[in-house]
Amino acid sequence: MLNIVLFGPPGAGKGTQSEKLIAKYQLIHLSTGDILRGEIAAGTALGLEAKKLMDAGTLVPDGVVIGMINSKLDQNKSSKGFIFDGFPRTAAQARALDKLLADKNTAITLMLALEVDDEELTKRLLLRGKASGRADDQNQDIIRNRIKEYNNKTAPLKNYYTEQAKFQSVQGVGTIDEIFENLCGKINISSNLGSNPSHKVLDN
Ligand code: AMP
Repeated sequence: MLNIVLFGPPGAGKGTQSEKLIAKYQLIHLSTGDILRGEIAAGTALGLEAKKLMDAGTLVPDGVVIGMINSKLDQNKSSKGFIFDGFPRTAAQARALDKLLADKNTAITLMLALEVDDEELTKRLLLRGKASGRADDQNQDIIRNRIKEYNNKTAPLKNYYTEQAKFQSVQGVGTIDEIFENLCGKINISSNLGSNPSHKVLDN
């Protein structure tokens, strides 16, 4: 399987690049932010609880998102692999993900980090908020809190994956296609795919 953690602060372009990557490599997209917004839209108890935290730009508890990822992995057992977008965001989540994948006889292939500076992120998020209406993208204080959460709790995961020799960094500024090409280059090297993604030699 090809299992990619697409990593980067809010606004780095993870969603945009995920769409292109899933089309090219036929992967299942697992975005915990999207799943949580789905719970909110469906008016579930979990969604109601999560909404308060999300509206403040604070992370939801590890157990909640780990449980969501576990059930999505179970629902997609025969997939060619997964893109984890916005997950893991804490060390506990990263450890849990390794365990869940090991139980399914697979592992993370690599972590791809999109690097974008804080000023550019804030600009992008405010623009996105205007277009999408997402509450947490429209308020500078909330955006600042999300970036702070990222720097405190999530950025250290770079070390976690570096220790496993799985960390790769890509400049997240440029055209969408340039960034995508750079990401594909790293994936092809890490997964020995060469230029033919239909080759299925992806076991970890
Ligand atoms: P995102 O769409 O990935 O920017 O996520 C939006 C919000 O959902 C975040 O600010 C968090 O409140 C929550 N969230 C999404 N993914 C996670 C996660 N892996 N761990 C904790 N909270 C999360």
